Amino acid sequence: TDSRPKVVDTEVVVIGAGQAGLSTAHHLARRGLTPGTGLVVLDGSPAPGGAWQHRWSTLTYGQVHGIHALPGMRLTDADPERPSSAVLGEYFAAYERRYDLRVRRPVRVHRVLDDQEGRLLVETDHGRWRARALVNATGTWESPFWPNVPGRTAFLGRQLHTADYRGPQEMRDARVVVVGGGTSAVQHLLEIAPLARSTTWVTRRPPVFRTTDFDPDEGRRAVALVDRRVRAGLPPRSVVSVTGLPMNDAVRRGRQDGTLDRHPMFDRITPWGVAWQDGRTVRADVVLWATGFRPAVRHLAPLGLREPGGGISMDGTRAVRDPRVHLVGYGPSASTIGANRAGRAAAREIDALLAGELPPSE
Ligand code: FAD
Repeated sequence: TDSRPKVVDTEVVVIGAGQAGLSTAHHLARRGLTPGTGLVVLDGSPAPGGAWQHRWSTLTYGQVHGIHALPGMRLTDADPERPSSAVLGEYFAAYERRYDLRVRRPVRVHRVLDDQEGRLLVETDHGRWRARALVNATGTWESPFWPNVPGRTAFLGRQLHTADYRGPQEMRDARVVVVGGGTSAVQHLLEIAPLARSTTWVTRRPPVFRTTDFDPDEGRRAVALVDRRVRAGLPPRSVVSVTGLPMNDAVRRGRQDGTLDRHPMFDRITPWGVAWQDGRTVRADVVLWATGFRPAVRHLAPLGLREPGGGISMDGTRAVRDPRVHLVGYGPSASTIGANRAGRAAAREIDALLAGELPPSE
C-alpha cells in the first residue's frame, strides 16, 4: 500500500507567498478561484513577509528603495526607522487577512512532477497536492550564490553570505573583507566599518554610483535585456542590480573616509585572508560574500524546464516547455513592481488555461 499522504486535488497551486506569490494569488482569487480549495498557496517560511522576514534587522524600511505596494492595498505611515522585516511582515500579514488568501505555512515544496495524466503533482513536507496549473514564486533568497574562488575551503576564519548576515555586531573588532558590487555590499560596509578593526571592499567590476535620479528608461532597458535572456533560455540576470548604486549622505561619507574604496577581485583565499596575483595580501577574520542570489527553482527540476543554455525559457510568465507552469518574480519580473505586473498577467493566462483555451503558440 502507498504510505505517502493522500493527494489533495485543486485547480492552482502557488508556491511562495512573497510579493510575487501574493500578487498572483490576489489576481487569481479575483478571477473566481477560492483560496483554500481551488487555490492553494504554500510557503516555506514560518511567517508572512516572504524573504523580507529573513533580512537583517538593521536593514530599515527607510533603506529599502522603491518598494511597490501589493495590488489593492497601500502600505501607509510606515516608520522608516523600523526594520523592513517587521514593517513588511506586518503589511503582508494584513494583506493575507484582508483578502483571505489562506496561505499554508510552513510548507516546503520538495519537488513538482508531471503525473502523466495532465496534472502537476506538488510534493511537500506537509502533504501532496495535484493541480491543473502551477505558479512558482519562490524568489531567490533561498539560493545564495557563492563564487568559486580557489582556496575558499582552506580559510580559517568565518565565511558568510548576505543571506546569513544578522547585523554588524557580530563583526566587532574583526578584519572583514566584503565581496560584491551591489547595494547589499555597500550597506554591509557602511554599518560594519565603525565597529570592525578593518574593512576591505572587493568587487569584480568597478562600482557605478548613480549621481542622478533613477532613470526609468534605463530600468526599462534592463528589464528588456533580462526578458530577452529568459526568452532565449539563458539564466536571468538580476534586474534590481543594474540600476547603479544609489548615492546618499552615508555613501558620500563612506567614499570620503575610504570605507568605500574598492579593490579588484582577489585571486585566491589563503588560510589567513585573501591574495592577489601581484603578491598583495589582506588578512581577514571574516569574508562576507554579498555576491547575490539565483532563482530558487531546484524543486522544478523533475519537470525538465531547463534549456541547454542553463535557464528556463519563458514567454512572459509562462514556461515554454510546460504552459501549465508560470514563473512570477523570475527574470524580468524579479522586482516588486515586476512581480505585481507578472502576477496579474499569470492569473489572466491561467484563467484562460483552466477555461480550456490554449496559450498562444510561439
Ligand atoms: P520572496 O520575497 O523571496 O518570497 C519567496 C517565498 O517563497 C519565501 O517566503 C520563501 O520562503 C518561499 N519559498 C522558496 N522556496 C520554497 C519552496 N521550495 N517551498 C515553499 N516555499 C518556498 N526590490 C525592490 O523592488 N525594492 C527594494 O528596495 C528591494 N530591496 C531588496 C533588498 C535586499 C537585501 C534584497 C536581497 C532584495 C531586494 N529587492 C528589492 C528585491 C526584492 O526582494 C524582490 O523583488 C521581491 O521582494 C521578491 O519577491 P518574491 O515574491 O519573488 O520572493
